[in-house]
Amino acid sequence: MDEPVLRAALVAMCLRLEALGLNHGTAGNVSVRCGEGVLITPSGMGAAGLTADDLVWVGMDGSVRGRWQPSSEWLFHRDILRARPEFNAVIHTHATAASTLACLRRDIPPFHYMVALLGGDNIRCAPYSTFGTQALSDRALTALENRRACLLANHGMIAAGRDLDEALKMTIEVENLSELFVRILQIGEPVLLTPAEFAEAQAKFAGYGQRHAAA
Ligand code: 13P
Ligand code: ZN
Repeated sequence: MDEPVLRAALVAMCLRLEALGLNHGTAGNVSVRCGEGVLITPSGMGAAGLTADDLVWVGMDGSVRGRWQPSSEWLFHRDILRARPEFNAVIHTHATAASTLACLRRDIPPFHYMVALLGGDNIRCAPYSTFGTQALSDRALTALENRRACLLANHGMIAAGRDLDEALKMTIEVENLSELFVRILQIGEPVLLTPAEFAEAQAKFAGYGQRHAAA
């Protein structure tokens, strides 16, 4: 995809995240792989009124091109896209239920088979670090090992995908699972799937959904 198309898609995604109630104000940030770097939202600017020209390009070496400062979280966006070639888009939000669990510093356990969609038998919560730091990026990368999403302690969540739409799908699923888990914790502790039950769900996912249409 060429850069103008990516820029338009990224702006549209910011508006969509806000419309879906997954982000608000200047919280959160979004990036997409673009050439030898990433296109990312500018720091401290919300989705309202955001234009394609407001987005910032950050090279894998940290060089910056754009009229604004890149998101304060450019380090983890860059580091994730650099370390994980299977991903081309990263979404960070302060979605309510995910952030609730993140403030409890709780991993999301295999209480529901849909946890498998995120890549493993739990969704980890990365230990706390100050926003915008290399320490936060390092801890996020570790929490994302073999996963498409993680929580960030006392902060929010990160989800990644092969494109922006898949990253959104993961974000929505993490927030939905978080909402369920928050409700469950108000009643008690969930009955967890056994490793065998979870492995069967994971295997089932391999053949789930529609085949891609023939070209
Ligand atoms: P930015 O406005 O710099 O992207 O920061 C928002 C945020 O969520 C920091 O974690
Ligand atoms: Zn944040």
